[in-house]
Amino acid sequence: MVKDTLLGKTLEELIQITADLKLPKFAAKQIADWLYKKDITSIEEMSNLSAKARAALAEKYDMGIILSTKVESSVDGTKKYLYPTNLAHQFIETAYIPDKKRSTLCVSSQVGCKMGCLFCMTGKQGFQGQLSSGEIINQIRSLPERENLTNIVYMGMGEPLDNVPELMKSLEILTSDYGMAMSPRRITVSTIGIIPGMIEFLNHSECHLAVSLHTPFEDERKRLMPVQNVYPIKDVLQIIRDFDFGLQRRISFEYIMFKGINDTPAHVKELCRILDGIKCRINLIRFHPIPDTPLEGSDEATMEDFKEQLVKKGITTTVRRSRGLDIFAACGLLSTKELVKRQE
Ligand code: SF4
Repeated sequence: MVKDTLLGKTLEELIQITADLKLPKFAAKQIADWLYKKDITSIEEMSNLSAKARAALAEKYDMGIILSTKVESSVDGTKKYLYPTNLAHQFIETAYIPDKKRSTLCVSSQVGCKMGCLFCMTGKQGFQGQLSSGEIINQIRSLPERENLTNIVYMGMGEPLDNVPELMKSLEILTSDYGMAMSPRRITVSTIGIIPGMIEFLNHSECHLAVSLHTPFEDERKRLMPVQNVYPIKDVLQIIRDFDFGLQRRISFEYIMFKGINDTPAHVKELCRILDGIKCRINLIRFHPIPDTPLEGSDEATMEDFKEQLVKKGITTTVRRSRGLDIFAACGLLSTKELVKRQE
């Protein structure tokens, strides 16, 4: 019998588990401490629980820590970790990106992705399955550099808002006192604009939101991102416009720049029009070519000029530095498809 895992359980779920096993109620908090604040890897090491309690837990549950089976290091310090998942022969990747003042972890939320964005390696891989909150949390919990982490971005493999229940549980664990006690201001969830998930996320979390925009024109966006056919960007923006983000919560838009496609003055003008009334930042991202695509990245000068035009119109805009290119850890390049092929 495959055992359920403790990692990824909320405090409420742990209270239920301890009640079912007839353990004292305070044991739930003790288990949460071991899971989220300490470094142990087995139930046996939960030394403030009685031997009987540990045996009862171990009979039904595994701790759920999965160690990375492979790590690749980039010349720029970025590292890419490979993790097995609970799905047979399926793996995910996690990118650790240290910088001067901040160290960011880019976590995956699904194995592969259903969304089929034209420019993305994960999209080309197709969808293999959802990650559990335990598998999402494990990417942080088992990271060797965990102590250095300052920021977490849900921008790895998958569309987080296509896996809302597990996403929301993982965010609760990351930000709760009983869990990892991180500030929600250090966590960003990125979406291509799945409206029902976005509403749930906005209403029940305080983490930042990043929306992949990539072009302000609807027909063009349909060609790049099939999601536009289901959740048009104008509806996504209306929800954002109507939502009170308060003073601290941030909304940003991701914009990958494709040569001759979305990098013209007309795009600057239309971007300003559709984002009118939204206090936001735009992150311009270099396109990293992937196999079998006609798309090319805009050149450096075009990107800088595009940025200047937006800044002049009053929109905070940055050009994001590419990291981990040599190990395929950069934006849009995460994929475990080749690996699965090799396993078969
Ligand atoms: Fe999925 Fe995101 Fe890639 Fe689109 S860009 S296919 S949503 S992982």
